[in-house]
This record gives sequence, C-alpha cells and structure tokens, in this order.
Amino acid sequence: QAKAEGGSCLRVFEPAMDERLRTRRALVADLRNAMARQELTILFQPQVSTATRRITGAEALLRWHHPTRGLISPETFIPLAEQTGLIVPIGAWVLEQACHVARGWGDLHLAVNVSPLQVRQASFVATVEQALARSGLPPQRLELEITEAAMLANSAETLGILSRLRSLGVRLAMDDFGTGYSSLATLQRFRFDKIKVDRSFIRHLARDARAVALLRAVIALGSALDVTTNAEGVEDEGQLSLLRAEGCDEAQGYLFGRPMSAAEFHARVNRQDSRAA
Ligand code: C2E
Ligand code: MG
Ligand code: MG
Ligand code: MG
Repeated sequence: QAKAEGGSCLRVFEPAMDERLRTRRALVADLRNAMARQELTILFQPQVSTATRRITGAEALLRWHHPTRGLISPETFIPLAEQTGLIVPIGAWVLEQACHVARGWGDLHLAVNVSPLQVRQASFVATVEQALARSGLPPQRLELEITEAAMLANSAETLGILSRLRSLGVRLAMDDFGTGYSSLATLQRFRFDKIKVDRSFIRHLARDARAVALLRAVIALGSALDVTTNAEGVEDEGQLSLLRAEGCDEAQGYLFGRPMSAAEFHARVNRQDSRAA
C-alpha cells in the first residue's frame, strides 16, 4: 500500500523512527538517575572447573530494574551507557560493589566486564586500584573481562593501561573470543590470562563437527600460550563432557547456574564447601 502511494513511504516510517528516538532519549535520561535511585543490581554467575565441577569464581553481570519498563537487559542499556559515557561512572560502581561482595568468597575469583570506553580512560587504573583498596579484595582475585572490540583501537595507550593493570596483579580475560576479527592479532600484541570462548561455538557442539574442530583449535591455542580457557554458555552435560575431554579448563552456563544474587551465590559456595569437608 505504502509502495503504491510512492513518496508517502517516508511518512509511513517517520512516526516509528520518532518513537524509537523518543524511547532512546527517555531511557538515557532514566539511566542517568538509575544509580542514585538504586535501580542497578549485580548478579553473579558461577564459573566452574570442568574437571571437578567445583566453583572457581563468578562473573558479575549488571541488571537494571526500570521503575515502569521492568527488567532491562544489559544488551540494551550497556550500549546506551557506552554511547553517552555513562558507562564510566556505572562501570566504576560495578567494580567497587562487586569487589566488596567478592571479598568474603575465600579464594574464589571475581570476573568483572569492562567496556572499551572504560579501558581507554587514563584514570581507569586508578579506578581499579581504588576499588581494590576500598574493598580489600586482593588484586590476584580480580579478573577483568574485555571484549576483543576493546582492542580495535589497539593504541599504545590502551596497551599501556592493560600492562599497568597486569602489574597490579589483576588478571585479564578476553571475552567473547572468536566473534571479532582481531582476536589473534590481539593475542600476539598482549598477554591475556584467560580466553573465554564465545557461546556461539558451544551452542552447536553436539551437531556440528566444525564447531568441535574450532573449539579444539582454540583450546590448543590457549594451552600453547599458557592461557586458561573458559567456555561460555554451557547448557547440557554433553557439552560439558566434550569440553572436559578436549581439555578446556573452565566452564560457565545455565548447567551450573544462572546469574544469581550475591546471597544465593554465597549459599552455593557454602554448600560446596560443606560437601567437601
Ligand atoms: P558476556 O560478558 O559475554 O556475559 C555472558 C552472557 O551470557 C550473560 O548475559 C549471561 O547471563 C549469558 N549466559 C550465561 N550462561 C548462559 C547459558 O548457558 N545460555 C545462555 N543462553 N546465556 C548464558 P547478560 O547477563 O544478559 O549480559 C550480556 C552482556 O552484557 C555481557 O556479555 C556483557 O558483555 C554485558 N555486560 C553485563 N554486565 C556488564 C557490566 O557490568 N559492564 C559491562 N561493560 N558490560 C556488561
Ligand atoms: Mg563477560
Ligand atoms: Mg562473553
Ligand atoms: Mg558479550
């Protein structure tokens, strides 16, 4: 119909575009206040050893409980926070809160996602140092997850910030490995402590021999470079046994637990410890 009317095509789409922009603007305005209004919470998802199934640590995952729109996924609001620079104060908050929580986890590690924009701030190292100092979390127990997109800039400054972080004792993980085009180049330029194989490779393991071949190659790469390997998005026992057989060190996914509150995670860890004792 719109086509037949020729030029009116534009008019058909305008209101929708307008609506999208309005929604975006409203979300950004709300996001500015989200921290102060205590609408942000951090959940923790267990990471386990594939060999023993024991919890080795957890990844902090941010959630936004919007007063009228309900739960908003980080896939939606993290990009907005990045585009507006809000990710810098929000990221600093996540880091400090999560470090506080993880302080009481014995020797388990805490993984925190950091966005490219945060890593490019000259003040980022100080932000991390402050979170560690205030929480009392030993640097060795903190792991920063950086997506390879962070490396796209691959600037000398970014690499300098990463090495200062490593000299603090903080560990660095490359998140979503294999989904970008610069993963290998980045591994050549910088030493990471962990590679997280993206969920898209794990999802098809049961049916796709090529997925298995790719996984095997990434694990071999990790082992050759002496880098720990973690598989994201493990949902069934079949995937776990394959990962174990192939020598992947760590796994994370719904099979072991969805992202959960700090209290639930703490209880999980205590149950595990009492079973071992
Ligand atoms: P990510 O860092 O790759 O985190 C893994 C995502 O996979 C999480 O989604 C997690 O809930 C989900 N997941 C874990 N296990 C499974 C599974 O077995 N099956 C399936 N289908 N999904 C699984 P989530 O929590 O929605 O977070 C999405 C992304 O948002 C994260 O991807 C990360 O890039 C970003 N993000 C989350 N929190 C933060 C944060 O505090 N700061 C920054 N900069 N980014 C964050
Ligand atoms: Mg992550
Ligand atoms: Mg990931
Ligand atoms: Mg991701």
